[in-house]
Amino acid sequence: MKRNFKFCLLAGAIAAFSLSACRDDKMEESALPESQSASAKIEQPGELQKSCSYVDQYWSSTAVLKTGLQNTADTNFMNSQMTKIASLWGRSNPTLRFVDDPSNFNSTYNAISYSTGKIYYGYAIYADAKNKGGDIVNAMILAHEYGHQLQYIFGLPTVNESTARPNELEADGFAGYYLRRPNGYNKTSFAEIAAAYEFAQSIGDYQTTSANHHGTPPQRRSAVRLGFLLGQYDLNAANFDYNFFYYYQGVLNGTYKMGKNTMNPEIDAYMSQYIDELRKIQTGEISEEEFKQLK
Ligand SMILES: [Zn+2]
Repeated sequence: MKRNFKFCLLAGAIAAFSLSACRDDKMEESALPESQSASAKIEQPGELQKSCSYVDQYWSSTAVLKTGLQNTADTNFMNSQMTKIASLWGRSNPTLRFVDDPSNFNSTYNAISYSTGKIYYGYAIYADAKNKGGDIVNAMILAHEYGHQLQYIFGLPTVNESTARPNELEADGFAGYYLRRPNGYNKTSFAEIAAAYEFAQSIGDYQTTSANHHGTPPQRRSAVRLGFLLGQYDLNAANFDYNFFYYYQGVLNGTYKMGKNTMNPEIDAYMSQYIDELRKIQTGEISEEEFKQLK
């Protein structure tokens, strides 16, 4: 985030100059009808690669927007994950693009979800995640970013705080949910998810552009664990939100079982086994190492 912010300032200084050079390129893309651009990006990876040297103010001024990663297998993996994640929630794909910066590779260590229906994913964060944690880490980061798309689309989260914490914790929950679902990443072992999550979190700022509080690491562990547990059930986005915050707020405030889960009483029986565990994750009584051993 700090690194990114520095580049913001740099990009701002050059923006006026760069924008005029990019204008034709940008109009070309926005002139396409929504559906047409959606299918074009899946069927023609690589062909629409842009040479424009200005992405937007959140990326380095020398960054380049591309439709693919360095190799086709990686591009295919990410595009297929994008389709799986979106269709799990009954949606068509958002626009997934990749950001490269050959002259300053590390500046692309970020992934951003935009309210305009786009996810921009940096080359550097993709490469590091894959090298150190395998495919599951990139799948998790992408599912987290798509969680923000769900929030834009459905006006979530329903819980508001003065910081980005509910948004970020819920996005972590959406990712945990996706990784478990049989029609998602289909991982039934939480240990693998926990390890991927620890890595995803440790590599840092894939978390939008907000400088706000994202929740403490124990709170975020608790959120991804809760999302994974809710993956036992087939939920739509609004229903996920309801259940996520029903249990999360209860865990956070110690008010669980004060009210009734009126929407899904049957989930209560299942979740009641885990409430104390979620609380202990959140308070740090269950350590990071113990977290990785959870079933
Ligand atoms: Zn985020």
